[in-house]
Amino acid sequence: MRSAPDQDGSWLLVRGRVVTPDGVLSPGWITVTADRIDAVDRGEARPGRQAVVDLDGQWVLPGFIDMHVHGGGGTSFTEGSSHDATNAVEFHRRHGTTSLVASLVTAPLADLEARAAMLAGLADRGVIAGLHLEGPFLSPVRRGAQDPRHMLAPDVAVFERLHAAARGHLRVLTLAPELPGAIAVIEAAARAGVTAAVGHTDATAEVTSEAIDAGATHATHLFNGMRPLHHREPGAAGALLDRDEVSLEVIADGVHLHDITIRLAARAAGPGRLVLITDAMAAAGMPDASYRLGSMRVDAAGGVARLAGDPAKGGTGRAGAIAGSTATMAGVVRHALAAGLPLTEVAAAASTTPARVLGIDHRTGALRPGLAADLVVCDDEFRLRAVMRHGQWLTGHP
Ligand SMILES: [Zn+2]
Repeated sequence: MRSAPDQDGSWLLVRGRVVTPDGVLSPGWITVTADRIDAVDRGEARPGRQAVVDLDGQWVLPGFIDMHVHGGGGTSFTEGSSHDATNAVEFHRRHGTTSLVASLVTAPLADLEARAAMLAGLADRGVIAGLHLEGPFLSPVRRGAQDPRHMLAPDVAVFERLHAAARGHLRVLTLAPELPGAIAVIEAAARAGVTAAVGHTDATAEVTSEAIDAGATHATHLFNGMRPLHHREPGAAGALLDRDEVSLEVIADGVHLHDITIRLAARAAGPGRLVLITDAMAAAGMPDASYRLGSMRVDAAGGVARLAGDPAKGGTGRAGAIAGSTATMAGVVRHALAAGLPLTEVAAAASTTPARVLGIDHRTGALRPGLAADLVVCDDEFRLRAVMRHGQWLTGHP
């Protein structure tokens, strides 16, 4: 049962299973006025002037927040126009991501500055929630799908150039803390209010701990692109898990991490630290084909994106390395639940915690009165059924 919204665009969603930071309200209801959540509570709602949507027991979760994503729907943030970047944003919105941070991979410095300036324009208009620079201060030893030719030694002056190009929208900088000069860049990032993230690193546990002491507070795709956790040398992964002030990205797509690893990471992290990301590239949502991730060529087949092999076609001799993902947030949320993570923890990891890390938790990231009406509706099997962003249904009603 549903009806059109009244003139001020207000909605009453009834008989849902509403996932809030304090638990699941079942049945629960939500009122939305214009672009905000007005009220959230359990039980039967008293209808007012709003249009009513009967959720008939479907789940309502906060809209997903993806703080590490390179593209989707055939286009990316790493190349192309602002129209292409907007297309990628809209693709992910349809899959439940109501806020995202656009991630750039290592590229020549002038290119990074130009991309950052273009994306800052989208951030000014509220299309994206900011930028993530995944490079250029990375370790070639743990480069993943990144181009080692453009990696640089950490340099505060270079950081300041990139920070200036992003005009206050740089949210996250991923770097390898073992590189000379990294600690000074971590300190400069922390002073500038940019989250310093450890990733694409060959650092030992000891060096990683020093980076955390210097102000690094985030792990870029934990376990991927770093030393594994060895019992005598726990590596970056062990050191990052060990420190409560560090938030931890995981790519729960069934490809990048074993489900046991996902469960162990969630348990070791405890509440409020896990962050689900897609690390998606242009191939997300598209047929199997060849795509670009920055300067690298990536072949997507069967939902797995791997570096292409033929150097003549842009391969690097590291053929087969897993590149970005083809995931959506709806997909990783569903996978994390199937792997056995509790629902309220998954909702926190997909929304509330990244909102806090990005400093946008006063605007979005939970089903709570006063926050933006950013929400998703899922069926019994957690298939996405509807997306509301800023009070507007993006996908039709549930
Ligand atoms: Zn990435």
